[in-house]
Amino acid sequence: MIGNKSSVWYPYTQHKLQQEPFCVTTAKGAELYLDTGDTLIDAISSWWCMIHGYNHPVINAAIVNQVTTLPHVMLGGLTHKPAQDLATKLINITPKPLQHVFYADSGSVGCEIALKMAMQFWVNQNKPEKHKFLAFNKGYHGDTIGVMAVSNPQDDCPSMHHMFKHVLPQQLFACEPKMGFIATKQCIQKAVDEFFAIIKQHHTHLAAFICEPIMQGAGGFNFYNPDYLSKICDICRDYNVLVIFDEVATGFGRTGPLFATNHITTSPDIMVLGKALTAGYCGHSATLTTTALFDGFYSDSFDHAFMHGPTFMGNPTACRVALTSIELFEQNNYLAKIKDIQTLLQAELLPFKHALVKQCRVLGATGVIEVYDSTTLQGFQDFAKRHGIWARPFDRFLYTTPPYICSSQQLLAITDCLKRWFIDKQ
Ligand code: PMP
Repeated sequence: MIGNKSSVWYPYTQHKLQQEPFCVTTAKGAELYLDTGDTLIDAISSWWCMIHGYNHPVINAAIVNQVTTLPHVMLGGLTHKPAQDLATKLINITPKPLQHVFYADSGSVGCEIALKMAMQFWVNQNKPEKHKFLAFNKGYHGDTIGVMAVSNPQDDCPSMHHMFKHVLPQQLFACEPKMGFIATKQCIQKAVDEFFAIIKQHHTHLAAFICEPIMQGAGGFNFYNPDYLSKICDICRDYNVLVIFDEVATGFGRTGPLFATNHITTSPDIMVLGKALTAGYCGHSATLTTTALFDGFYSDSFDHAFMHGPTFMGNPTACRVALTSIELFEQNNYLAKIKDIQTLLQAELLPFKHALVKQCRVLGATGVIEVYDSTTLQGFQDFAKRHGIWARPFDRFLYTTPPYICSSQQLLAITDCLKRWFIDKQ
């Protein structure tokens, strides 16, 4: 066990009960090298961000180049080309209405910024009563106070925030989408009607609706229907409720297209990018907004300005990494690679049946085995290590979100390991 002598306080970890983490010394491509001499294929891209794998020579070179030119400079009162170029690039690759970029240093803060922008937008419009948020049950938007308040409020696992329920600002929650990615018209309509009823009743106090588009990640890899998403966005628009898409996890291809937003034709008022934005090399996020939202802050009064400015926002090295990552993504046709990964994951996981398995599902470069009972997955991490795989299941979900540079052989090693866990139990 890690115990209480550890100088490092590990994330989501009960030090008294959990074993020492594996120590990684180096990494290359999709592989992690441990101090024990073991090599592990990273099946989850270090929490979904290392899309190009580790130690990519082109990104490494871009970092060295940037660090020896301008490693960091504040963005208050100063600007620089990497921040400007990245903003232009992000505006070019995201839906057209998104025209402005606000940087921060993590996905949680990027989402906090989205909430704060939405609230102040309405204050600037002389509608301060519009300060509440609507979110989905089982949603997840990070670990800081504001976003905890719009993340899964239920006591069930994998809620990570229920113990703060009594202190968090009270927000509104809609039932999580239950229809799946492919759904019947009736199923979609029923869920749309339920959503509509909430908006109709509460819109006068709602600043915005926030969701992870198409795939709820930490809430249990819940894939849902694009038509449903499109319709509920239209309802929000009709009732003057801003729409925030948290694409921190879904962005950069994880659900198939470049952004989950691309599954639909409408676009949000605010969109948050993180994780794969900087290919896992450093923390950064981008909160994109429409011109209409930006113009809500644009006035002769300083009081209307957005009062936010993280020290490391727009860090030149982070921006250069992001630009290089997007270039690699485009030059190497990652969208085709993701399609191939989806095809392989579908072929390997979808037919898999086992008494302990509730459902296998795949979307883009995300494969999930959902079990009935979370205890079924106890011991999997050691088992995976013995089979040369790094994976970290949570609650009832065994999943893979591999780096896009994984070879077919590596992907098969991952899917074989996930399935073998159950087969060996028989
Ligand atoms: N939103 C979503 C959908 C996420 O999955 C995460 C991270 N797991 C966050 C926000 C928070 O991002 P970060 O960990 O960079 O603060």
